Amino acid sequence: MEIFQKIGETAKGLGGKAREVTRRSGEFLEATKLKFDLSRLEKEMEANCLSLGELVYRRFKGEAGLDGEIDRLLSATRKVEGDMQAVQEQIDRLQPKPPVCPQCKLELPVGGRFCSYCGAQVVKDDAAE
Ligand SMILES: [Zn+2]
Repeated sequence: MEIFQKIGETAKGLGGKAREVTRRSGEFLEATKLKFDLSRLEKEMEANCLSLGELVYRRFKGEAGLDGEIDRLLSATRKVEGDMQAVQEQIDRLQPKPPVCPQCKLELPVGGRFCSYCGAQVVKDDAAE
């Protein structure tokens, strides 16, 4: 009887771990997908800038009737930039970056008041809990 109880408890423990792993791999997949979206948007941004450069240069050389296309492309590019920011924010939410020391830029230990690399105070006294 006792052995079955133990097995039951171990299984429960594993179940919890499996759920945690599932959640984490879900977040990982989501972040991977978002990074893919981001690189697609970056390519779109690059292509837009290239086209804009070409159009502006053609206008500079005296070609007429390009203003409408340039304006359209500028608006589209502004939107791509906004989308990139939104996607980046989602990535940061899924994979928050650890805080870094404002002085030496190295990663800080959790809950430390001082940087363990350069000794800079990283939590202001008035922010103490
Ligand atoms: Zn430091």
